[in-house]
Amino acid sequence: MSENKDQKFVYDFTEGNKDLKDLLGGKGANLAEMTNLGLPVPPGFTITTEACKVYLESGDEPAELRDEVSAHLDALEQKMGKKLGQADNPLLVSVRSGAKFSMPGMMDTVLNIGLSDESVAGLAQQAGDERFAWDSYRRLIQMFGKTVLGVDGELFEDALEEAKAAKKVTVDTDLDAADLKKLVKQFKKIVKTEAGRDFPQDPREQMDLAICSVFESWNTDRAKLYRRQERIPGDLGTAVNICSMVFGNLGPDSGTGVAFTRDPASGHQGVYGDYLQNAQGEDVVAGIRNTVPLADLESIDKKSYDQLMQIMETLENHYKDLCDIEFTIERGQLWMLQTRVGKRTAGAAFRIATQLVDQGLIDEAEALQRVNGAQLAQLMFPRFDDRAKTELLGRGIAASPGAAVGKAVFDSYTAVKWSRSGEKVILIRRETNPDDLDGMIAAEGILTSRGGKTSHAAVVARGMGKTCVCGAEELEVDTKRRRMTVNGTVIEEGDLVSVDGSTGKVYKGEVPVVPSPVVEYFEGRMHAGADDADELVQAVHRIMAYADRVRRLRVRANADNAEDALRARRFGAQGIGLCRTEHMFLGERREMVEKLILADTDDEREEALRALLPQQKQDFVELFEAMDGLPVTVRLLDPPLHEFLPDITELSVRVALAEARKDHNENDLRLLQAVHRLHEQNPMLGLRGVRLGLVIPGLFTMQVRAIAEAAAQRIEAKGDPRAEIMIPLVGTVQELEIVREEAEQVIAEVRQQTGIDLKLALGTMIELPRAALTAGQIAEAAEFFSFGTNDLTQTVWGFSRDDVEASFFTAYLEKGIFGVSPFETIDKDGVGSLVRSAVEAGRATRPDLKLGVCGEHGGDPESVHFFHEVGLDYVSCSPFRIPVARLEAGRAAAVRTTGSDSR
Ligand code: ADP
Ligand code: MG
Ligand code: MG
Repeated sequence: MSENKDQKFVYDFTEGNKDLKDLLGGKGANLAEMTNLGLPVPPGFTITTEACKVYLESGDEPAELRDEVSAHLDALEQKMGKKLGQADNPLLVSVRSGAKFSMPGMMDTVLNIGLSDESVAGLAQQAGDERFAWDSYRRLIQMFGKTVLGVDGELFEDALEEAKAAKKVTVDTDLDAADLKKLVKQFKKIVKTEAGRDFPQDPREQMDLAICSVFESWNTDRAKLYRRQERIPGDLGTAVNICSMVFGNLGPDSGTGVAFTRDPASGHQGVYGDYLQNAQGEDVVAGIRNTVPLADLESIDKKSYDQLMQIMETLENHYKDLCDIEFTIERGQLWMLQTRVGKRTAGAAFRIATQLVDQGLIDEAEALQRVNGAQLAQLMFPRFDDRAKTELLGRGIAASPGAAVGKAVFDSYTAVKWSRSGEKVILIRRETNPDDLDGMIAAEGILTSRGGKTSHAAVVARGMGKTCVCGAEELEVDTKRRRMTVNGTVIEEGDLVSVDGSTGKVYKGEVPVVPSPVVEYFEGRMHAGADDADELVQAVHRIMAYADRVRRLRVRANADNAEDALRARRFGAQGIGLCRTEHMFLGERREMVEKLILADTDDEREEALRALLPQQKQDFVELFEAMDGLPVTVRLLDPPLHEFLPDITELSVRVALAEARKDHNENDLRLLQAVHRLHEQNPMLGLRGVRLGLVIPGLFTMQVRAIAEAAAQRIEAKGDPRAEIMIPLVGTVQELEIVREEAEQVIAEVRQQTGIDLKLALGTMIELPRAALTAGQIAEAAEFFSFGTNDLTQTVWGFSRDDVEASFFTAYLEKGIFGVSPFETIDKDGVGSLVRSAVEAGRATRPDLKLGVCGEHGGDPESVHFFHEVGLDYVSCSPFRIPVARLEAGRAAAVRTTGSDSR
């Protein structure tokens, strides 16, 4: 942390700008940006994330903070012509958290700070509205009590409900000043009993307590969980915004609303938002009263509406992106309270990016930064089959797309419990709140009966890429009895439901799913130019074309057979980076492998190999044909031999039973001996890879012969095979030299036999630390390297993946030892650093060394960027991940210094 003496901890809204998110948080930076754009933002100031860091590290505010806050508060008071909490004419402020990335779990905003028993009268006089003043005061005590003093919020809500019931009214606006005055008294009593202290009457004390609460909220469990999920570093801290109050609860000519500059689900431009008259703050999203569509504001308050439309256009043109907005109208005067580049669905991200290119607001390189591989992957999920017979239960708002099927559960706890035991669940709630986060993560989909596109469920689900339908009003959700009723149909906990986040429809039972149009497009079954191609397919097509045009990394597939290879090719693979040969030894051929392993004499062994040869050759002929003209890297046999033999216990039992029957089976006995002989404590580190080739005579040469003969056959058939032979698990160049010599001899023989001038590249995997450390030597015998980052991760960390992932990885993730499993995203500092140095050493020895990666990391977005950066030639991944790798390779190549935060 910077221990700068002149460090400034407080910035006026006029001093910041949108690029200072690290320091001022997203909310503060954007409030400053709007202020500087000349938009109507209530004046205020922001306390930096640096101040928060000091607080979190030392348990206390930085010494200078108090005075700095005082100075900025003085300036604010001067500007507004009134003092915080001044008895006759109080300045009121809101205290709002705001980290760099918007994050659930941070302290809820406290409005109306500065009100007290004394100043409430001043406010009434100032506004000429006594009801308003008492309404504001009761809100302050309620919010302050709950968020700062930690009082159970339901106690306040229950008291409010009772007050309404006593008066036989249903909405809070029907309570008058006298009712609210009574409520304030009750609220203060609740605070006193629950928090063990009086509600603070000193306005500055209110403000200071709220500021510290914001700092502390950085470390709530919910915030920590979210950060882990979203891979947000734990040490960023949050900023605090102090903003002078404007009032939407001053009567029918006042109100508060939220809006998007475009539809966050489709990307279409239009008027999207909700407005609520005579309301403050969260009322509009809390579902307390019915909101009206934003378009209705035009008839309620034409002047403010027109101004808002104008501002929305200004913001879109300025941010060159979809913005979401919070605003308040105080007696006909419009105020902007927040804006940010808005969250959107994966489909909308692609559409908006191409729309903005067409509008001339952004260029193609920027368009690539507006989408990501995770979103593309999401668009490749299947959808519900429209032709399926369905039983429609109801319909809500399509808040986050996808097709989710699961058992109905009505609380977060059950969602987590059932999903842990392998059940797919749909979390059904009236509405969600941050306490439901665990359940939302565990669920396949989320369904609520209340709330709109901007409700908690909708916003969080979109952020997580989880299917969500919200505001399905026909559903009567009864969480206590764990059931919901829809027009007479009862869905009990455990009943299957299907939720379509793309249409908002909810079905009883399990609806079958069909592939996504994006997959249909990649498969070549739908063309972007076709009449029926939807907007989404067209947008994906355009973005993929940009990516392919700019990317430097080539993308290959991990595929072992012709069928996978053909699909990979349709998805854009430029070769096969890893063809595993082990599956070619399974099934019916297992017996031949058994014979090979059991062979006592050279003759027996050769016979077994001779039987395998034509089978192997045919596999390769098919594969080379499918990938004609493109490179195919074939890896020689890698796994330990016992994988091809029967299970040791099973075999022992079989032999023992046979013995008991005096019915000796010679073959089983020999097999059992072989199994015992080949049994290893740590097969991952045992007799496998190149080691097999060195100790089992003829095994690798048989494979090389099969590859060479297959290639020759393809050339005879006028094909263009580009085979590359890859030796696995090499640790030292000597191993490679021996295998290489033998292989070259076999290739020469095939050349002679067929009279065809075969060219086969020979290379190795780099998957052991020693190989990476001696890459310079190994490159002398290898024409290419393919980084096997799965095994390299296992050996660098000393992790056996199958063992550690199940046993202690959750603990490691929870303790934050790593934010994401190193098997998912490459560990840049450790494994990555070995990759980087091996690339350099290898190229130093052999400048035209071809370099690729064939671990699962080859299809992981973040890892692809890393491989681009260290200068690999290609990544190889499973066929289905190929579009993701193509896109990310394009994004990596097009990345610019001014890149936007895509989070
Ligand atoms: P969040 O991050 O949860 O959106 P905000 O800080 O934006 O929290 O505030 C919550 C609600 O209070 C929003 O509706 C916001 O517009 C409103 N609000 C915040 N500050 C003020 C203010 N100074 N005057 C009026 N309303 C405010
Ligand atoms: Mg807000
Ligand atoms: Mg390996």
